[in-house]
Amino acid sequence: MSTYPQARFMLSAAHAQQFPSDQGAEVAVAGRSNAGKSTAINALTGRHGLARAAKLPGRTRLLNFFELAPGFRIVDLPGYGYASASAAERANWVPMTTALAARESLRGLLVVVDCRRGVLPGDEELLAWAAAAGRPVHVLLSKADKLKRAELARAVATAGQILAGRAAVQSFSAVDGTGVEEARRQLDRWSR
Ligand code: GDP
Repeated sequence: MSTYPQARFMLSAAHAQQFPSDQGAEVAVAGRSNAGKSTAINALTGRHGLARAAKLPGRTRLLNFFELAPGFRIVDLPGYGYASASAAERANWVPMTTALAARESLRGLLVVVDCRRGVLPGDEELLAWAAAAGRPVHVLLSKADKLKRAELARAVATAGQILAGRAAVQSFSAVDGTGVEEARRQLDRWSR
């Protein structure tokens, strides 16, 4: 299964005009703060430290594009859809995420959710965004190493019930490697 040794930070966009050209394939990635999104991006790409670029001051409220391979990008949506965003930030998100949803390159949405918290009502805005765009959603229940096997199975089942066919769901851990290959397979499918 491919890792992405050439993965690199491309750019931060504050406006849709700054997006890279709409060619190839891209996957949006979202998750509430501390869900383990940066760690997941690093684990999936095999490029440790890659996602740190999106956490630099000033970039945490922008759309951050990474090129994983020529013609294949991920777009980090920090804070999108979550109540912690201010009204001004929300106002800025609408045109940007509307423009993102209209891109031909957009293949799907990866959502990182802490397995101990599960899918919450606050995640609905993101799911609705992807559904309105007609794009599939894949949920990573992160930090799977923090739960016992039976608890994790319950967390996956509960998330599956809440998502009710609106998204695929799997467990994931950057620490013990749970689900990393499965998630990479999904990225591979979306990269084509
Ligand atoms: P982000 O805010 O969603 O980008 O979250 P981070 O990737 O920065 O992770 C938040 C915290 O969770 C950090 O302390 C990570 O070390 C920890 N973390 C992330 N992924 C895992 C995991 O798979 N297992 C465990 N045990 N901790 C994790």
